[in-house]
Amino acid sequence: ESREMIEKFHQELKKADLHEEIQIVKTGCFGFCEKGPIVKIHPDHVFYVEVKPQDVEEIVKEHIIKGRRVERLLYEEPTLQKKIEEQEKISFYHKQLRIALRNCGFINPENIEEYIGEDGYLALGKVLTEMTPEEVINIVKDSGLRGRGGGGFPTGYKWELTYRNKNDLKFVICNADEGDPGAFMDRSILEGDPHSVLEAMAITGYAIGAEKGYIYIRAEYPLAIERLNIAIEQARDYGVLGEKIFDSDFNFDIELKYGAGAFVCGEETALINSVEGGRGEPNAKPPFPAESGLWDKPTCVNNVETFANIPPIILKGPAWFSRVGTKDSKGTKVFALAGKVNNVGLVEVPMGITLREIIYDIGGGIRENKGFKAVQTGGPSGGCIPEKYLDTPIDYETLKEIGSMMGSGGMIVMDEENCMVNIAKFYLEFTEDESCGKCTPCRIGNKRLHEILIRITNGRGTEVDLESLQSLGEMVKESSLCGLGQSSPNPVLSTLKYFAEEYREHVVNRK
Ligand code: SF4
Repeated sequence: ESREMIEKFHQELKKADLHEEIQIVKTGCFGFCEKGPIVKIHPDHVFYVEVKPQDVEEIVKEHIIKGRRVERLLYEEPTLQKKIEEQEKISFYHKQLRIALRNCGFINPENIEEYIGEDGYLALGKVLTEMTPEEVINIVKDSGLRGRGGGGFPTGYKWELTYRNKNDLKFVICNADEGDPGAFMDRSILEGDPHSVLEAMAITGYAIGAEKGYIYIRAEYPLAIERLNIAIEQARDYGVLGEKIFDSDFNFDIELKYGAGAFVCGEETALINSVEGGRGEPNAKPPFPAESGLWDKPTCVNNVETFANIPPIILKGPAWFSRVGTKDSKGTKVFALAGKVNNVGLVEVPMGITLREIIYDIGGGIRENKGFKAVQTGGPSGGCIPEKYLDTPIDYETLKEIGSMMGSGGMIVMDEENCMVNIAKFYLEFTEDESCGKCTPCRIGNKRLHEILIRITNGRGTEVDLESLQSLGEMVKESSLCGLGQSSPNPVLSTLKYFAEEYREHVVNRK
């Protein structure tokens, strides 16, 4: 539909003889999926929602030629029952703070000059001309940035570890193997602002002493792949990738590697095995990739969102970044807000915001005014958080304390009609399927957990099954080899803890 609209805009502007005066810019995602497709008119800052190809003629005739707003296409704030023109004033955006998503929806991702126009590649120029690798690492350490892919490991320390492991050959890997059902944070950044990731990878290469980077991306992301390929070519042409970048002695280039959709390949050692052409199975750690990673060389693996934060941190300084967030979780986090919420979409919020603010102020509350039951954070192996924690400020630590996790940023809202036992079964089915099978607790344990949940939801469960779910879930969590198995029982354990009565209803009322 958006492509059709672009074509229609070209036609209508040509008819009005305005095609040379007015530019049509194709951007990445605005995040407000619920109200797409979106058309923004500059310099008026007017934000039109749910635009259809048949609306284009009216926008051109009324807005562009006569300067009159097309009222029916403006967003109506439900609580205020008022039409709002400017993007920033819409409640969906009002509490957001966009650092990683700063350019998504604002620039044409296929045009490097638009990225440069937003200070793109300035951070790379700065580190190459003014800073030593140690200074770059210290800035990232001081910023407090932690890995946004799920682990939350401090990024600067990861860079320092890789830097300290001396070797002629080192690598930078961008983990773009986004596998959580319903999550599209990394995809949106790559589709909307690919140069920010390329620039950050080059900065990382300079800091740790690597000349080669790989982006491991799901083959199911064709548009992100297309835009990355365009961006890499343009960056080479502009001398910001390749040899002697900014006329320095620093060389750095990037290659894409395609993943085939295995969830476990998001785990860094499995990802490295896959890039090497082996089976995508995790290895026991240590050694960590910083010591012995790709082809046994020191390797720094960071996720897409982590990288997208790097250029502004370098340009604006660590204090600017660390002012946002909580004591141990600095900056912002991008969440894919989905499920039974009014405003489904991609949101970037400061760490420390409450779940209530995300779900009600940004997300617009529960669909059809139904009651809230739970929110699951952290992807398929995150926990389900009940209403009593809606006012908890969220960061890496608090989410863990209440039985869930930050993960890569999936956030699925459930209403009063969702059966939490069915929800737990759904996620177990996913993790059972995605288990690579290398270690027994995850391979067999998740299968047994899933079987018990099937039995319970089929009305054949017993009290003993509930005890088994608890003890087996804890065992799988404690004894699995990688993060997938270590977190896969979270949906079961958290629902057993917070929604025990629903399990009992299935067991007591069994036929
Ligand atoms: Fe494979 Fe699961 Fe073991 Fe990870 S925990 S290595 S996914 S079997």
